[in-house]
Amino acid sequence: MAQVEIRDVRHAYSTKAGPLPVLDGLELSVPEGDFCAVVGPSGCGKSTLTRLVAGLMKPDEGEVWLHGELVKGPRKTVGMAFQNPVLLEWRTILDNVILPLEIVAPSMPRKDRVARAMELLDMVGLSGFENKRPSELSGGMRQRASLCRAIVHKPDVLIMDEPFGALDAFTREDLWQTMRALRQAEPFTALLITHDLRESVYLGDQVVVLSGRPARTQYVLDVTLPADRPLDILYTQEVGEMLHVL
Ligand code: ADP
Ligand code: MG
Repeated sequence: MAQVEIRDVRHAYSTKAGPLPVLDGLELSVPEGDFCAVVGPSGCGKSTLTRLVAGLMKPDEGEVWLHGELVKGPRKTVGMAFQNPVLLEWRTILDNVILPLEIVAPSMPRKDRVARAMELLDMVGLSGFENKRPSELSGGMRQRASLCRAIVHKPDVLIMDEPFGALDAFTREDLWQTMRALRQAEPFTALLITHDLRESVYLGDQVVVLSGRPARTQYVLDVTLPADRPLDILYTQEVGEMLHVL
């Protein structure tokens, strides 16, 4: 079984005006170590999907499986990153990154936690900044730190909800490269929600396209570009194919 498996998920929110069907036939399968990008129009249920995988919500119908287990409630073994990194201002960058280890591995000695966090901070170019407070860093650096925090405990899946959406184009491309470098150093399974088709194809091994109201999985594109795909050929190949479908 794949690391993340979503089978025919249907979900409606209850609102004052009655049930609001959001997802109606969501299918997704991410093999271990793969990077799955999810694209779809605003309001189609992408953030809802992240909550279902993290176990923060139960679907009305269908199943969500993570690492071979049926998801029934909140899971500690996921890592999450959002558009606006939620870093604790009263903690240093290092102590922010360490946080999940305090929860998941309370008996791990502090020096081992520090070593693990420093290893990641180093990979994303933040060594030397570990004793700074979040507000002393740029937006791109804060997002790097939040990515380190999201994978420090080696989660079953890293879930990212439009993590680079608030960054300027240069910083965003920088972060794409960081993401690639992280994956190469330390393989992990990822679910990336994004509005940016280039981003989805640059980072994804597969791109899942959601659309419709309520939304369903419309199309799954297997990205066949080489792992070291250059940015400038993206428009001519997979993105072109996807635009055609959308
Ligand atoms: P996306 O992330 O793709 O923009 P969301 O998953 O955030 O979409 O939301 C999908 C739809 O569900 C939207 O119409 C949104 O307004 C609605 N929605 C999201 N969360 C709730 C909620 N807690 N209660 C009621 N409606 C919600
Ligand atoms: Mg959203």
